[in-house]
Amino acid sequence: MLEMPPVDAGVVARREEIAAALRAIVPDGVISDVDGRRVYESDGLTAYQQPPLLVVLPETTAQVARVLRWCHAQGVQVVPRGSGTSLSGGALPLADAVLLGLGRMNRILEVDYADRVAVVQPGVTNLAITRAVEDAGFYYAPDPSSQIACSIGGNVAENSGGVHCLKYGLTTNNVLGVEIVLADGEVLRLGGKQPEAAGLDLLGVVVGSEGLLGVVTEVTVALLPRPETARALLLGFPSVAQAGEAVAEIIASGIIPAGMEMMDKPATHAAEAFVHAGYPLDAEALLIVELDGPRAECDHLVEAVKAITSRHGASSCQTSATEADRLNFWAGRKAAFPAVGRISPDYYCMDGTIPRRRLPEVLARMSQLSAHYGLGLANVFHAGDGNLHPLIMYDANIEGQLAKAEAFGADILRMCVEVGGVLTGEHGVGVEKRDLMPEMFTATDLAQQRRLKAAFDPALLLNPGKVFPLLHRCTEMGRVHVHHGKARFPELPRF
Ligand SMILES: Cc1cc2nc3c(=O)[nH]c(=O)nc-3n(C[C@H](O)[C@H](O)[C@H](O)COP(=O)(O)OP(=O)(O)OC[C@H]3O[C@@H](n4cnc5c(N)ncnc54)[C@H](O)[C@@H]3O)c2cc1C
Repeated sequence: MLEMPPVDAGVVARREEIAAALRAIVPDGVISDVDGRRVYESDGLTAYQQPPLLVVLPETTAQVARVLRWCHAQGVQVVPRGSGTSLSGGALPLADAVLLGLGRMNRILEVDYADRVAVVQPGVTNLAITRAVEDAGFYYAPDPSSQIACSIGGNVAENSGGVHCLKYGLTTNNVLGVEIVLADGEVLRLGGKQPEAAGLDLLGVVVGSEGLLGVVTEVTVALLPRPETARALLLGFPSVAQAGEAVAEIIASGIIPAGMEMMDKPATHAAEAFVHAGYPLDAEALLIVELDGPRAECDHLVEAVKAITSRHGASSCQTSATEADRLNFWAGRKAAFPAVGRISPDYYCMDGTIPRRRLPEVLARMSQLSAHYGLGLANVFHAGDGNLHPLIMYDANIEGQLAKAEAFGADILRMCVEVGGVLTGEHGVGVEKRDLMPEMFTATDLAQQRRLKAAFDPALLLNPGKVFPLLHRCTEMGRVHVHHGKARFPELPRF
């Protein structure tokens, strides 16, 4: 089971005193009653719940800065939260920490078509950015499946991706600037409207930092012109290996599709039963390939992809003739997670990345693990970049099944690293993968990452218990490395 840093009972006892101090800063945005706090007890990793010490909902950067300054002076920990859709438990509250919700900072501050940027507050949802500019023919490219709900601040913190990131890049490639408040209340601006700001790439450090380095209070995103046309192919394959080979050849031929997604048979069946998109139910693997650009180029690429996939044994092929068809092809893929939620009481969504060529082998090993643990599995992947989303089905009401699902998930992530991949593609480390970090990073790597954290947040008050394995294990196991009379990481607390 998940272990968190020990709770400071002294801070919990001060709940009402802390609430009163923070109400002086955000008069209408502090929640300290039991029922109100319970609303925030979980994020997308619903297996874990913990009501926060209290919730603060600021409306301005100045309020965020004052809240953080006060908490810093008092040694009170803070967990930032956007919309709470994190699947890795990044926004999981702590009993002795303030939960800082950015949802009320939800205004689009500026749209600048000349520079093709929008400046937005962190609580604006991902989709709301596109909605605000689509009439002018623009959009914001990264499109997580949760885009209707997730906030741009959360996207920055997780470096989120989506089906169109294969061609257009992840959040890090589409964010030009941020305003960030450090743990001590200092307000920094990194980057701006123009790409490649001078100096160290601190913006690159902040994107993907999972709320550990500062609180993002403003984001400048790039806007792209809508491509003239987009067409999608829906392809069925008799085996995952053949679909995988087709993906490899599409990429090797120099084509970069706007999106290239694969689903295995269980995921296809679950999605089809949910959205009735017309998916081929006999296929062992379903591939959706989207091409976009000028019409003539798009038509040419559609034919090229058809030829490649037919060479690799595609058993069915539909091409979208209308925009409605295209959206219909995607509807099942975009709803794959809730679709699996309909056929299993609970599911655990994993996120790891592997080299594309290892896909058939990894899938075969995953089905062996599924049999070993006695738990169902459906697979959805961003096939173009090797990002896997195995969905492990379990029932939390059956004693021991959550633990089994977690052990199964940990085995999958270890396998991702073993075949040359990485622990996460886009959902972050959070608490979910925290204890697996040593599978991928050496002690030296982790020490460097901790030093970076300490440079931004020396008192270690922001989002504790996330990303880094807890150090007390070393102490308990008697493995603290003392060199020349000094323990390593003297700046970090021992539990
Ligand atoms: C059904 C479903 C589908 C999903 N599909 C995708 C997908 O396709 N691609 C993908 O990448 N993710 C996906 N996700 C995961 C999730 O939506 C993303 O990680 C998203 O970016 C989280 O945004 P949020 O606003 O909900 O952040 P939260 O869950 O509230 O927080 C996530 C992390 O960001 C930190 N944080 C939040 N706001 C700030 C801020 N302003 N400043 C500093 N730190 C902050 C939190 O501390 C936490 O560590 C999916 C989730 C669900 C439930």
